[in-house]
Amino acid sequence: MLMLIDAASLWYRAYYGLPSSIKAPDGRRSGAVRGFFDGLAVLARRFSPTGMVCCLEGNWRPEWRLELLPAYKAERATADGAEDTPDGLDDQVAAIEALLPALGIATATHPRYEADDVIATLAARTAEPVLVVTGDRDLFQLVDDDRARHVVYLAKGISKAELFDGEAVATKFGVSPGHYVDFAVLRGDPSDGLPGVKGIGAKTAVALVNTYGGISGIKAAAADEASELPARQRAAITDAADYLDRAVKVSSVVTDVDVPVVDAAIPETWKDPKAVEALAEEWNVGSALKRLREAVAAAE
Ligand code: MN
Ligand code: MN
Repeated sequence: MLMLIDAASLWYRAYYGLPSSIKAPDGRRSGAVRGFFDGLAVLARRFSPTGMVCCLEGNWRPEWRLELLPAYKAERATADGAEDTPDGLDDQVAAIEALLPALGIATATHPRYEADDVIATLAARTAEPVLVVTGDRDLFQLVDDDRARHVVYLAKGISKAELFDGEAVATKFGVSPGHYVDFAVLRGDPSDGLPGVKGIGAKTAVALVNTYGGISGIKAAAADEASELPARQRAAITDAADYLDRAVKVSSVVTDVDVPVVDAAIPETWKDPKAVEALAEEWNVGSALKRLREAVAAAE
């Protein structure tokens, strides 16, 4: 099984899940670095992947998505458009990004796409079972039981991560994974700046999607005099038609990003032990890396 990790999701969970008192010898915070690699160890033990790729956020808020929807992720941006990151995280991200290649754990990224798209692309390229590890709800759209594509959702933390198959997605949201995007754009998603359709909450969104089968079916029903849609909903959907088309494009992951082919195999020994040793000492994460080594060996 190929494990595709939304690396930013994992380091954010690690950052918020570990005490700020965890420090590197030079006094910088290092809880996110430790928690990230301990998180990989936990995931390796629990799911025994045969391959692992850490997918990085080459562009957290791509220009082409902003052109479609200017409010996209606006709440999370600083005045100059960069992502607003919490205190002491940036240095730790740099450390993680230096450690991954030294360990020999594959990474993948593209300067014009989000990790979401890179993950979707790598999943589309393989016939192997895929486990996507993320805290990003958008990726529920990739769940596909027939093709053994599942999501490990990190919302409640790394050790309490939940495994989602199609049934679990349907239980949580009321729609199948293939309709997750339709549901999300109708209801809206404040964390991504999707306003949703006025007057349509989660319950109505679920009913509409399950009755009319997605945005195009719902728009057709709104345009059809004979449909049973109440007048208020009909008007709201008609008014929002342009938003709906744009938001579907923004929220749908891209599956053909031009990322290089990666060797996802987990190395039996760290690739550059000297660099690993130096970084482990600099960041005080030697024992976390040892736990990862043991977890990977046990998974084989
Ligand atoms: Mn994402
Ligand atoms: Mn996303």
